Amino acid sequence: MTDTTSRNIVIFDTTLRDGEQSPGASMNLAEKMELAAALVDLGVDVIEAGFPVSSPGDFQAVAEISKNIRGSVICGLARCRTDDIDRAWEALKHAEQARIHVFLATSAVHREKKLEMDKEEVIRGAVEGVKRAAGYTDDVEFSPEDASRTETDFLCEVVEAAIAAGATTVNIPDTVGYATPQHMGKVISTLRNRVPNIDKAVISVHCHNDLGLAVANSLAAVEAGAGQVECTVNGLGERAGNCSLEEIVMALKTRNDYYHADTQIVTRRLVPSSRLVANITGIQVQRNKAIVGRNAFAHEAGIHQAGMLKERTTYEIMRPEDVGFAKTDLVLGKHSGRAALANRAKEMGYHLENEQLNAVFGQFKVLADKKKEIYDGDVAALIEQQIHTGSEHWSLVSYHVVTGSGETPEVTLNLARGDERFSTTMSAGDGPIDAIFLAIEEITGYTVVCKDFNVHSVTVGKDAQGEVMVQVEYNDLLYRGRGISTDSVEASAMAFLNAINRIATSMADIK
Ligand SMILES: [Zn+2]
Repeated sequence: MTDTTSRNIVIFDTTLRDGEQSPGASMNLAEKMELAAALVDLGVDVIEAGFPVSSPGDFQAVAEISKNIRGSVICGLARCRTDDIDRAWEALKHAEQARIHVFLATSAVHREKKLEMDKEEVIRGAVEGVKRAAGYTDDVEFSPEDASRTETDFLCEVVEAAIAAGATTVNIPDTVGYATPQHMGKVISTLRNRVPNIDKAVISVHCHNDLGLAVANSLAAVEAGAGQVECTVNGLGERAGNCSLEEIVMALKTRNDYYHADTQIVTRRLVPSSRLVANITGIQVQRNKAIVGRNAFAHEAGIHQAGMLKERTTYEIMRPEDVGFAKTDLVLGKHSGRAALANRAKEMGYHLENEQLNAVFGQFKVLADKKKEIYDGDVAALIEQQIHTGSEHWSLVSYHVVTGSGETPEVTLNLARGDERFSTTMSAGDGPIDAIFLAIEEITGYTVVCKDFNVHSVTVGKDAQGEVMVQVEYNDLLYRGRGISTDSVEASAMAFLNAINRIATSMADIK
């Protein structure tokens, strides 16, 4: 039962900014737009869309999200530097409601080793940054980076100065995942007790999961009076990730009796949003992941099952339907129409334009001829292929491989890029997949190191589609690729091309 005296906790989602910093999780523009729309449906209050000055791609994503997404505050990150802040505003200016998030490190190690600034310079930098941002919007967030390792007195001083300069949210980041719940709670209550103007701003926390405590630390902060939590879907983020959105939200909802705090999140959208992020980034959640893992509500022990049959609440603290687990995986087939597909896609969290829907429907018909039953996993795969591919990118036209045990494969490969066609014939490699990878490298001109390759079935049955995920390294950076087909060699070629396309996009971004 949610009681009416609950405080509302602002959910600040940073999947598109901090989450995207996970190795191999970078998203293209179409994927970011898709995710931003899904975050609005999820009821996220603030969407941190990117770090505009960091790259032209980030700038473009924040600008497009600001222009097209309505219903959440759109936030852009900036260091406390004039050109960072100006660039952030340039990207954010079309937003319905825009927030500029400025940060500056405050801990001794960061001041001395990274910034080479003394305490006075840090305070001056923070104040100037906040003031510049406040000249553009009245919604300004300030983060003292590495706050959890900053001397308490100095942290209080910086926070007070930032609020006086116009910060409306002060975010306390545990940048390196060093805090523990009691420690985090103490930092927040100290700020509340010692900073004289603290009631003029919302206190926020941003916890990393290096010790597996990000959610626990965020909860402790809420208990101590924080009014905003920064988090990511599936806990995505660099290293061990960030506070997981679904876990913090369901902890507050389930234990409202204790925290007297709740959020505006539409909890039925948690599982669809989690799947969407997993599909877009290629980073799946483990089966026993709290709230959204496949086994999160599976009761196996006989004694539990017996109890559940008598009374669900004997062993169940949340209902699966409340977090968006569908009772059945709806099956579509050959005779399903465009409207049924559109409806299913919408339920799964996708926002398809008419043209995209037509293209997906065409592919759906082709697939329905190959396999009888089309599951959610298949539909997601079709849509992902549609939104992952841009017309300027490489795509597979056809392949032909002749090989056998102990033989060097003979491969003929035909690729397209826009209206152009490319082909090569070569004798190389260890088996058909290796041969195709080599042929792709030859045509596209990208030589990469394959770091990971795995195949699994998207759904069930002998006619299930195979999904291939590859991870490749190029210029010391990781790129992922995903390909899906009922033919696993074809899926491998598609996955490899998908990774090459990501490299090509990021190269264009660097230029
Ligand atoms: Zn972070």
